[in-house]
Amino acid sequence: MAATLDTSIQYLKGVGEKRAALYKKLRIFTVRDLLYHFPRGYVDLSAPYSIMEAPEFELCAVRARLVGKSREQRIRAKLSIFKLVAEDYTGRLDITMFNCGWTVDGLKEGEEYIFYGKAQGNLLKREMTSPDIYPVPKNRVILPLYPQTAGITSKMIRANIEQCLSECGPPDETIPADILSQYGLAGIGTAVKDIHFPLTIEDAKKARERFVFEELLLLSLGLSMLNAENLRKTVRPMDARDVARFYKHLPFRPTNAQCRCIGEAIGDMRLSTPMNRLLQGDVGSGKTLVAAACIWFAHQNGRQSAVMAPTEILAEQHYDTMRAFLGAFGVKVELLTGSTTAKKKREIRNGLITGETGCVVGTHALLSGGVEFFDLGLVVTDEQHRFGVAQRAKLSQKSESAHVLVMSATPIPRTLSLIIYGDLKLSVLDESPPGRKKVETLLIGGQKRARAMGFVRDAISGGRQAYIVCPLIEQGEAETALKPAIEYEKHISGTTLKGFRTGLLHGRMKPAEKESVMRKFKNGEIQALVSTTVVEVGVDVPNATIILIENAERFGLSQLHQLRGRVGRGEHKSWCILVSDAKAAGTRERLSVMKKTSDGFQIAEYDLKQRGPGDFFGFRQHGLPALKVASFADDIAIMQSAGDAAKRILESDPKLGKSGQKSLKQAVLAMMETAGDRPN
Ligand code: ADP
Ligand code: MG
Repeated sequence: MAATLDTSIQYLKGVGEKRAALYKKLRIFTVRDLLYHFPRGYVDLSAPYSIMEAPEFELCAVRARLVGKSREQRIRAKLSIFKLVAEDYTGRLDITMFNCGWTVDGLKEGEEYIFYGKAQGNLLKREMTSPDIYPVPKNRVILPLYPQTAGITSKMIRANIEQCLSECGPPDETIPADILSQYGLAGIGTAVKDIHFPLTIEDAKKARERFVFEELLLLSLGLSMLNAENLRKTVRPMDARDVARFYKHLPFRPTNAQCRCIGEAIGDMRLSTPMNRLLQGDVGSGKTLVAAACIWFAHQNGRQSAVMAPTEILAEQHYDTMRAFLGAFGVKVELLTGSTTAKKKREIRNGLITGETGCVVGTHALLSGGVEFFDLGLVVTDEQHRFGVAQRAKLSQKSESAHVLVMSATPIPRTLSLIIYGDLKLSVLDESPPGRKKVETLLIGGQKRARAMGFVRDAISGGRQAYIVCPLIEQGEAETALKPAIEYEKHISGTTLKGFRTGLLHGRMKPAEKESVMRKFKNGEIQALVSTTVVEVGVDVPNATIILIENAERFGLSQLHQLRGRVGRGEHKSWCILVSDAKAAGTRERLSVMKKTSDGFQIAEYDLKQRGPGDFFGFRQHGLPALKVASFADDIAIMQSAGDAAKRILESDPKLGKSGQKSLKQAVLAMMETAGDRPN
């Protein structure tokens, strides 16, 4: 049987069960997946550098003769190193390879190779750590580099892709022919060949452009189709009420920004099309109050509200706040989460269906079948992007005839939110409540880590708490310079922070475990919490005054800003310590933006301009599909044309039901299915 695009790659010649399992880690299951596994870059081997001419700290190809290789040296159980020496007419290159027996075995002394990596050194010699090593090419000079996993090299991936292409041919064309020609895009056959095996870098660029367009077209289509469904709904409009009466019962004066956002939302709720509004405000800007005002307004109109939060702790937090804000108006507020007892749940459901309960706060437990409302008028979701796609679909069903207010602290530049959210209206809380203290931000190198940890210890001894954030969960096979949370916590609990209560939080823990750790941190049982970025959003621990972030260079600025927002929430002075050994000037400059400003939007704009291809922060955080090729930094222009093209396609075929659009529709659905995946 001939292989097709849907054939499992396991049945490809040269793949087999074992390698298929490795491919699975890269989320590659079928031939199609493999063909869409694009290079993360290319090595141009046509003009390699000599050793001493190689630029420092930059990925580049160096051509040199291998003159020596050491035996394997075992450092510890999972770590072995090899030393290689190469030379050319300009000098000497010392190479260190980690865990690479299989690569090193195949190298012959006396042969010339291309070493692709970052060189550094002095006038006398250069060094490289773990470069990719290639034989000097005979004909093809542009080699694709793939995102790899331990055990699959770019070379294997290249061979497998070559085979897929020859056995199965290219995937189906998704982009309609008229659009291809209007925008001068490469067809799928050429594009798939050129993105993997270009003859020139130009060809590769052209191919990439096509896939960027395709990806953004699918995204635009998917989002427009979702939005169109919302526009078709109608709701009963609400009547005007005097908000001053609500303000009078608050413990503080609302900021101007809060008043404006409340006005905007209430304006929407008086219409017969459902409100679909995103309330964006930096951490601590007071979004909850805006939500409370809307709930009050709905209640004044005899309508119920539901508030949904991504975790139990956040739900509890909102429950307390809402009771405080709304109690004076006789709004009955209830809390419904997974750990509510069956008896209590029954009571709450009863109150909701009779209409006695005016507001229910909860987790996705709210979405379960049994929860029904007497007259639901408003749904508020906090950090909606933390919910899965299925949950959001359910929520949208539940809120059929309700207004929707989405709150998010993930700042996203205005230009972008329009494109991403289409008709979703935006309210921005661009003003902090008075009296907020600025978090002091420090940027240090690893050599000062010990001092920083001493500072952490002092703060904890003084009764405060600290977060420590690491970029990795666990030490992988390959030796990297990244700090893994699990090992880190183990280490500090036995050394610097011995005798203190430390805790660990990461994305591979079960939700209940995570909740329990967060709770312990919240009530002070844990003094120092080592965590991956899962702490990014949410919980209010005013007693935490330090957040120390390891490998700060690995995070987007917006993400660092979010993390920084975990501290500075109480009466004590707070610090954010960024630890980074990155030497590149660009990286230092990027990180120092954190010292200069505490304005989330400014940071997001800067981030957007600076981030490399494909990893605009905030995208997946907004529950949108992961983009594999497109980058918001570089592809704004393509995004515009892809958006226009999407509009045109939908004008003549709003549901993509025409037979000619079958593969387009399939691709749109497949992409939307990936929305909201969160690896960390
Ligand atoms: P976020 O936007 O991060 O959700 P919150 O709604 O949790 O922010 O508000 C942060 C803190 O600021 C809360 O303790 C809240 O009571 C307080 N707050 C909100 N609005 C004001 C205001 N206008 N004046 C003073 N404090 C306020
Ligand atoms: Mg909040």
